[in-house]
Amino acid sequence: MKPTIENKIWLSSPHMGGAELEYVKDAFDTNWIAPLGPNVNGFETSIENYLDNEVHVAALSSGTAAIHLGLVLLGVTRGDEVLCQSFTFSASANPICYLGAEPIFVDSDKDTWNISPVLLKKAIEDRISKGKKPKAIIAVHLYGMPYKVKEIHEIAAKYNIPILEDSAEALGSSYDGIKCGTFGDIAVLSFNGNKIITTSGGGALVTRNKNYKEKAVFLATQARDNAPHYQHSNIGYNYRMSNVLAGIGRGQMEVIDDRVAARRSNFEYYKQKLGHISGIEFLEEMRGMYSNRWLTCILMPSVQIRENIRLKLQSVDIESRPLWKPMHLQPVFEYCDSYVDGTSEDLFERGLCLPSGSNLGLDDLTRVVEVILKIMTK
Ligand SMILES: *Cc1c(COP(=O)(O)O)cnc(C)c1O
Repeated sequence: MKPTIENKIWLSSPHMGGAELEYVKDAFDTNWIAPLGPNVNGFETSIENYLDNEVHVAALSSGTAAIHLGLVLLGVTRGDEVLCQSFTFSASANPICYLGAEPIFVDSDKDTWNISPVLLKKAIEDRISKGKKPKAIIAVHLYGMPYKVKEIHEIAAKYNIPILEDSAEALGSSYDGIKCGTFGDIAVLSFNGNKIITTSGGGALVTRNKNYKEKAVFLATQARDNAPHYQHSNIGYNYRMSNVLAGIGRGQMEVIDDRVAARRSNFEYYKQKLGHISGIEFLEEMRGMYSNRWLTCILMPSVQIRENIRLKLQSVDIESRPLWKPMHLQPVFEYCDSYVDGTSEDLFERGLCLPSGSNLGLDDLTRVVEVILKIMTK
């Protein structure tokens, strides 16, 4: 489906496959207009089949809700410290604060733009030496690029700290042939409107631990005890996914492989057309890593050139965006400790996300490339 504003090229817009409406119609025909029903179960099963048959999936109202519940399941409570990748979207870190816990931010490495094993180890040892062992680690596969799974999980295991794997941007990515979203003690997916597949809004909690899934569903549906009346022994949440939206998700899962292929081919096109221009850098996959290339990002020589290009694109109705502003530089997290070496700050200054939707045509990509070439080869 094309965006409604004629000629505008969006950063990442929804891309329906066709079957979505049939599943949604089914929800209407059977009157399952509720946060439970056959589409919810069917969507969960399709994600489980896609990721790895050994995982359990709980469909929820958003990725943020999934992170919140994930931290609850990992036992994070008031006063705890949680280590979190600084270079990410704020939704990775906000739920730490919902629980009255404190985020401690860790910078990225240059190879993956994700949490640095060196700085993670340093942060853990420093926090322990200060008398407080971190309760959990939030690691993110940003823009679809896997973090260094082996190194990061070895460190976490050595200190016996659970990992919440934020795979919101990485459905379809893999590491050593194993799908992202299956590595963490708990992992999280997002189906927000700009993600690789969407339910308009939605998310999922993924885990190999069946008890976690059951507890997640229990907490996500107001934590009702087993009684004929409404009885509660826990604080509950209203976080379950609607059966109507899960219908969209079932249709989207039928085309996930095409969506990944299209986004990867966007990346290849940009790289082929711009990769040889001096001053433009692309993030390559390390051996064993496979990125869904949710967004194609480029690094420019300076913030000035980055802004030149962004504004020029904007003036011809092409949406692009600076990379995520690191959490340790956000006003709202000013009070938090961090372990940083300037890597994510530099990425934020020089980086630009290019239009990356799976529904872009060759004409769209050509238009983007022409604007950039004109500035960079002047
Ligand atoms: C989108 C996103 C989230 C949050 O997901 P929502 O479904 O929008 O709540 C969390 N983390 C990252 C890295 C994201 O990109």
